[in-house]
Amino acid sequence: MLDAIRWDSDLIRRYDLAGPRYTSYPTAVQFHSQVGTFDLFHALRDSRKALRPLSLYVHVPFCANICYYCACNKVITKDRGRALPYLQRLEQEIQLIACHLDPAQKVEQLHFGGGTPTFLSHDELRQLMAHLRKHFNLLDDDSGDYGIEIDPREADWSTMGLLRELGFNRVSIGLQDLDPAVQRAVNRLQSLEETRAVIDAARTLQFRSINIDLIYGLPKQTPENFARTVEEVISLQPDRLSVFNYAHLPERFMPQRRINGNELPAPAQKLEMLERTIEQLSAAGYRYIGMDHFALPDDELAIAQEEETLQRNFQGYTTHGHCDLIGLGVSAISQIGDLYCQNSSDLNEYQNTLAAAQLATSRGLVCNADDRLRRAVIQQLICNFSLEFAAIEQQFNIDFQGYFGALWPQLQGMASDGLIVLDRERINVLPAGRLLVRSVCMVFDAYLEQQNRQRFSRVI
Ligand code: SF4
Repeated sequence: MLDAIRWDSDLIRRYDLAGPRYTSYPTAVQFHSQVGTFDLFHALRDSRKALRPLSLYVHVPFCANICYYCACNKVITKDRGRALPYLQRLEQEIQLIACHLDPAQKVEQLHFGGGTPTFLSHDELRQLMAHLRKHFNLLDDDSGDYGIEIDPREADWSTMGLLRELGFNRVSIGLQDLDPAVQRAVNRLQSLEETRAVIDAARTLQFRSINIDLIYGLPKQTPENFARTVEEVISLQPDRLSVFNYAHLPERFMPQRRINGNELPAPAQKLEMLERTIEQLSAAGYRYIGMDHFALPDDELAIAQEEETLQRNFQGYTTHGHCDLIGLGVSAISQIGDLYCQNSSDLNEYQNTLAAAQLATSRGLVCNADDRLRRAVIQQLICNFSLEFAAIEQQFNIDFQGYFGALWPQLQGMASDGLIVLDRERINVLPAGRLLVRSVCMVFDAYLEQQNRQRFSRVI
């Protein structure tokens, strides 16, 4: 059973190291400023020649209220007028990128993230989607995966109706915690009724998939009150659940300075929360996909994992890893063939660069041969919990054990600790190692020793 995970407190304590989430390899920490628009145009040309399908990510950075745990790139403002100049530049970017691609390249996946995408008015959303449709080959038969992040405080039935009409068929709902004391401590007051109303609307309007985000480790959370949140959430029957570990890094993320460190649960309590959450979700029929994600067995992610076609990119686990990912908007990241590139994370810089009719690419990375090989290894482990050496040897024309010989003592240590099975042909991540799969991936990360592990949150 792919979904089998076994809780082993001792292993978790020993292997719970700070590490990347591997939505890419190399990770964004390795991006540098020598990559710019020249590289982007080059990659777009290759994408066009190969007629590769596309996945579009559109970043809307605005939020009306601040959540104190937030580590996203966002702009807090009550002034809805801020959206207009941004959208003008975003439309310009859409046009500039699209003219380098072929209209035959189908957009299999579209995702609006933020910030809060529904910060935009209905007219603004309509216009943005019309602009995307004009410049990209969006599917209009509902066969694409077109998703949007929803803040239930910023969306009602009419918003959901509009989104469905515009072609969205998936929603991802930020919930985090239902306990009023926790909500007050993180400045995110959101009732169960508000969330339920959005879910009712999504079901009635036949959105294909509903995801709910939870966070454990927030101030005032206890294993008991978080278990109640999880119970309520299970009763809402989302198709997918993301259960993230809150990483308190106030020196890096300003809003987190407003969280009282004394109110945070102790590490042992956080572990208990995760253990209970896994028990509750497993009992309710959810499968562990990996890296904080759970899904019902008939969800596409669970099916893709069963069929070993699951992939991982900047949008997390995906069935569209074969698409070129085009990031649009401030701070958005693209992954086109072997190129990763990111737009400026500074709103003014992003807008001013586009106002000068230039793309706002500010940094990135072109994968070398070693990056490509390690990326494939990490993808296999993180998506399938197993790695067949022969497949990698064939794809990259190497001898696996010869190439990675220096890693063998570490892998053998993991094998004798019961995280993995290691033989001459493959690595299998055991049920006790699946929660720690990131630690196994980290063995293959050539950059990790060079960088400060403090930049990353812990595995669990
Ligand atoms: S967590 Fe989401 S809604 Fe809250 S401030 Fe950050 S981006 Fe905005």
